[in-house]
Amino acid sequence: MARSSGDPLRSAFGDLRRAHPGSLAAPVPAEEFENLWAAMSQSPRSSPGTAYVHVPFCETHCLFCGFYKYHWRKRDGAPYVDSVLTQARRLQGQPLLDGPPLRALYLGGGTPTILSAPDLHRLVSELRGLLPLAPDCEITLEGRILAFTEDKMRAAFDAGVNRVSLGVQTFDEPIRRSLGRKASKQAVIATLETLVAFDSGAIVIDLIYGLPGQTFETWAEDLRLVEAIGLDGVDLYGLNLIPGTPLMTAIDKRKLDPVPRQDLGVFYASGAEAMEQAGWEAISTSHWRSPGLRERSVYNYLSKTGAECIALGAGAGGALGGVGYRLIPTVEAYAKQLDQGQLPITSMFRARQDAPLINVIRAGMERGRLDSTQVRAVPGGDAVMDDLEPLLAHWSRAGLLAPRQRFFDLTVAGRFWQVAMTQRIIGFLDHPQRRPMAALLREEGAK
Ligand code: SF4
Repeated sequence: MARSSGDPLRSAFGDLRRAHPGSLAAPVPAEEFENLWAAMSQSPRSSPGTAYVHVPFCETHCLFCGFYKYHWRKRDGAPYVDSVLTQARRLQGQPLLDGPPLRALYLGGGTPTILSAPDLHRLVSELRGLLPLAPDCEITLEGRILAFTEDKMRAAFDAGVNRVSLGVQTFDEPIRRSLGRKASKQAVIATLETLVAFDSGAIVIDLIYGLPGQTFETWAEDLRLVEAIGLDGVDLYGLNLIPGTPLMTAIDKRKLDPVPRQDLGVFYASGAEAMEQAGWEAISTSHWRSPGLRERSVYNYLSKTGAECIALGAGAGGALGGVGYRLIPTVEAYAKQLDQGQLPITSMFRARQDAPLINVIRAGMERGRLDSTQVRAVPGGDAVMDDLEPLLAHWSRAGLLAPRQRFFDLTVAGRFWQVAMTQRIIGFLDHPQRRPMAALLREEGAK
């Protein structure tokens, strides 16, 4: 249920629940990994797919981050790239590479831009030869400003990267310093301008609202710079306070004060308004693209729709034929398994039976528009939509949705609460009392 307070941005729900709702459920026992993987790799893919390469090294641990894994040492780069390429070579000739060509290749981390120019070049160019990429495949290099030098940019673009996604978080120098981000404001701007000047792909950044020390003025300046620099896309994320991160420790010790939780929605709304005023298009609830239309965000979109994904690299996660899998996160163990010709898989999960339905709902919510006709078109969708509609009507009354014909468009407040709402939809669908709850909501709506 949402609170009908008249101020949905601030108080529709009690918590944000930022963890993205998954659609994979039942863990597979380790003794079944080998046979299951054999079956998965012997089946051609049947739907649009992607590949994800994980590069788990970072030069520093940013205070807010829960993804930090390995401190970067220069000598680790080349052997790690060797291991990833070894894993990709092992896939050659396997039917899982057959089927529709891959629409997106994503190098994430960690910090893939930490790799040397020669390693970046051979990683991307060799993967292009080893994986069945579509001619218009989006090839994203994720990373950060620090140590992303011009020779690396050139190497990446020359090898075929056509999208660069950098975690900037904020341009404001005092806030950057307090978060452990070392690059100065001028260095951030200069790096982004250099990337834009290459004119070789979409340049996209992440910004975070809710950071300690952030004000509406620093936020407005961050948003102004996105347009002024000539970027192609921007993600606006609310600060996710992850237990165990250095930021959480600093907040617990009262060394840093985050933005009050009830103001986060106002930051989001002002960000959405600024992007709209600049003529940018919201292609998801957290992502905007410039009128230049270079940005497509194919990987992010496909991953939200539950597309099949081939995982490469220590700690990478993938999904094939309704089975999710994760590779061994430890670099040494991952390399050792590959050297011994063994499967570097650490966990597997079978998708829940109604995953196609959940994926349609997740993808629609993520894009800011739930299409009831699309949901009803999936097997089992009619019953789900019949029960869901009273909840969606309740949320409409609370100012989170704007129903229009077959669509439920998320309002600005709904967009801010999207992840929390999607999680609640999944919880509602799984609830043993779903039918009686739907009946109660229907009664509430009739009053
Ligand atoms: S934000 Fe990026 S660079 Fe910083 S610790 Fe996390 S993964 Fe590494």
